[in-house]
Amino acid sequence: MLTLILPPDIQAKLHAALRSAGKREIGGVLMAEHVGPNRFEVMDITVHKRGTIASFVRRIEDALGRLQVFFSSTGKQYSKFNYIGEWHSHPMFAAEPSRTDDISMHQIADDPKVGANFVVLLIVKLDSSGALIAGVNTYLPGGAKHQSSVGYVS
Ligand SMILES: [Zn+2]
Repeated sequence: MLTLILPPDIQAKLHAALRSAGKREIGGVLMAEHVGPNRFEVMDITVHKRGTIASFVRRIEDALGRLQVFFSSTGKQYSKFNYIGEWHSHPMFAAEPSRTDDISMHQIADDPKVGANFVVLLIVKLDSSGALIAGVNTYLPGGAKHQSSVGYVS
């Protein structure tokens, strides 16, 4: 099972973005480091308003400047630091993928332009006390989906 680690700085970034977005859905892409067998630590995220950008490819293009900065800051270690998937918020719903989420993630996993072995979808929300709740699923080319776990310690 894959574990997606959210280090404290990424938790803080998500928390701040969720607080300022309120009931609006937000999301972006996840860049991660492969830190151990089936363990990936999120190193950076982009933050976008949802609904303003239509497709995944468009979101990637918008994120590209950011990704290039990220890759140059990591010495272009593409095998170690990489796009790993997407995140978005469900301010009004459980932190579980919707049917639409599953369809769009399977499309990304099967997209030859992405060329991924797998992609993850992180869904986040704040509970009534303002604490971060996160759910992660992994999507494989060919239609498989696995529930994955979130790690909070780096
Ligand atoms: Zn969703």
